[in-house]
Amino acid sequence: MSRFVDVVLASGQAPAFTYAQSDPPVSPGDLVKVPFGRTSLWAIALSCHDKEPTFPVKQIMDKPLDRPFVPAHLAELVRWIADYYLCPPGVAAGPLWSAAGPSTLVRLGLGARKRKASPPGWNLESLVSPRESIELSPNPDQSAAADAIVQAMTAGGFAPMLLAGVTGSGKTATYLLAAREAIRRGKDVLILVPEIGLTPQTVRRTADFLGQNVAVLHSQLSDLDRARAWTSLREGSARVALGPRSALFAPLFDPGLIVVDEEHDGSYKQSGDAPRYHGRDAAVWLAHRLGIPVVLGSATPSLESWHNATTSRYRLLDLPHRATGAPMPKVRTVDLGAERKRTGGAISSVLRVDLERTLAAGKSAVVLHNRRGWSPQAICLDCQTALECPNCPGLRLTWHKDRSRLACHHCGHESPPPRACPACGSEELEAKGYAIQRVEDELRRLFPDTPLARLDRDSAAKAAVLEKIIDDFREHGGILLGTQMVAKGHDIPSVTLVGVTDADIGSQTPDFRASERTFQLLSQVAGRSGRASDPGEVLLQTRSPGNPLFAEVAAHDFGAFALRELETRQILRLPPFSRLILVEASGSDYALVEAWMDRLAKTLRPALETLGHFLAGPMEAPIPVVAGRHRVHLLAKARADASGTLRRAVREAMASCNIPSGIRAFADVDPVDLL
Ligand code: ADP
Ligand code: ZN
Ligand code: ZN
Repeated sequence: MSRFVDVVLASGQAPAFTYAQSDPPVSPGDLVKVPFGRTSLWAIALSCHDKEPTFPVKQIMDKPLDRPFVPAHLAELVRWIADYYLCPPGVAAGPLWSAAGPSTLVRLGLGARKRKASPPGWNLESLVSPRESIELSPNPDQSAAADAIVQAMTAGGFAPMLLAGVTGSGKTATYLLAAREAIRRGKDVLILVPEIGLTPQTVRRTADFLGQNVAVLHSQLSDLDRARAWTSLREGSARVALGPRSALFAPLFDPGLIVVDEEHDGSYKQSGDAPRYHGRDAAVWLAHRLGIPVVLGSATPSLESWHNATTSRYRLLDLPHRATGAPMPKVRTVDLGAERKRTGGAISSVLRVDLERTLAAGKSAVVLHNRRGWSPQAICLDCQTALECPNCPGLRLTWHKDRSRLACHHCGHESPPPRACPACGSEELEAKGYAIQRVEDELRRLFPDTPLARLDRDSAAKAAVLEKIIDDFREHGGILLGTQMVAKGHDIPSVTLVGVTDADIGSQTPDFRASERTFQLLSQVAGRSGRASDPGEVLLQTRSPGNPLFAEVAAHDFGAFALRELETRQILRLPPFSRLILVEASGSDYALVEAWMDRLAKTLRPALETLGHFLAGPMEAPIPVVAGRHRVHLLAKARADASGTLRRAVREAMASCNIPSGIRAFADVDPVDLL
């Protein structure tokens, strides 16, 4: 029996704390009460060891539950996240505590009820029981893919698989078939979905298809709902956990299969606060630790996963056709350079005519315009100055006509429009360019009698509203205009036309994943068209019709896109051919931030160069100032197989350069957002 136990506290302190083992002994995953200062606190045991600390340790006071609070593999997941994503164990354990929620201890009879429980922010049931059974006869491709997953389950051991299938190929049905078999064998199943894919329909369909209670884990659920779902999983009355990345921390004691739906989705990577973990990568780690299959599904896989699949590290499961037998939509481009002169608006005459034809045939259309607000900038007609955010110099303010406000989409600043130009005093200020509300206005004028709904973060701030907009569109048809929110997963049979007003948007951002994101967005939104019996059409408005990316989208040829893009990545030594760690420091005093980053770079550079790694910077971040804070970046890069030594070097350098007050600094391992 090991003599010491490292624990993380429920109260959220960053470090792990060491205590002396108790009798009966505690093991990883156990809930314990420990003395702390003059009080006692709840904690979870992370690991047990014999390494004698250099200070006197206190004894664990109590272990109230005879079964582990969470399975031991979740304690190990916390340790892995702390180690891999360079954060303290107490921070890595944050999502584990929040998955359970504060009311769980009350439910287990261990805590006092809080006076005020947090209200639900999500119109989602946390525990859904099956109602009717769904039967579906899989097509041969689906059968083959599901069989491969089941065989991997039978064979036992870690088996990472990429389920790559065109939009509408029936990936969901495929992994649910495999999940059903896992359940039949007495195993638990974990299904991760992107934030926005978590709808009541997804939950209902999963419960009905699997004939199982499905527990939803989501931070937006009320404390009580969260505790109900969480305890059902821990007690085994629900054996299927469904949710966004935080659902990784579902207390499933015997998982047999993990699914990551839409694995390319950016919401799997936690940005903002630590732990900055990637839900997909953590899922693969967990499957490896448990020795079970993990299925990553997408029509547009991340190039990291695709590279793993084409180099045989992952098994590739292919669904090349739509499940309904419908053909893939026909994709055309419209040359805006030639068109704009004639129409002037955001809707070209070609798109207008197509919309007319589609609506006249009783079908409906989706229009993508990926920019919020009324117009992306406000300029002075006399001196051409664009109005910028006072907190984020260089970032233009977006005009929100509906609330008569200029808004900064980076820091949230909002203000009424100034009376005069801050540069020259002229009163001739004008909204310039098209954001989605202005396109909405144009579509209303073009199609006054057609139902038209707008879907973006302003119109659908709450999930409930999003649901309603989609449901109304499903029922009444017409035009659904939206930002990238319209591209995600919706399966609406009446849609036969998808129009993209500006297919070039995003491809100019200074981020090496820009074209990957554009390909994903265009393919996913194109995938909304012609999913039922009538053939679908897609129209991409662009100023650069010769961009090869559009031909690849038109051919629904992810492989061709990936091949071309991977060639570039290889030449530039970018992921997946290398590993990155981004260090960001920010503060209101630029000189202070820069001086500290210089010091860090001086420590880090020799260490990295000895290892054959590379360091870029310090440099101003692509968005140099946000909300009054100056942002400086360092980008560390290593060979793809050397992420371990890279992480160690960054960790040690950051630990040796004390961060002065006034500076916030963090490391982001495998960063997704480089701006
Ligand atoms: P994906 O996730 O690959 O985009 P879905 O799983 O959402 O695709 O399936 C797309 C549509 O095809 C859904 O309406 C689904 O009900 C239907 N579908 C899936 N499998 C079959 C099948 N074997 N036969 C008929 N329809 C199917
Ligand atoms: Zn001016
Ligand atoms: Zn701002």
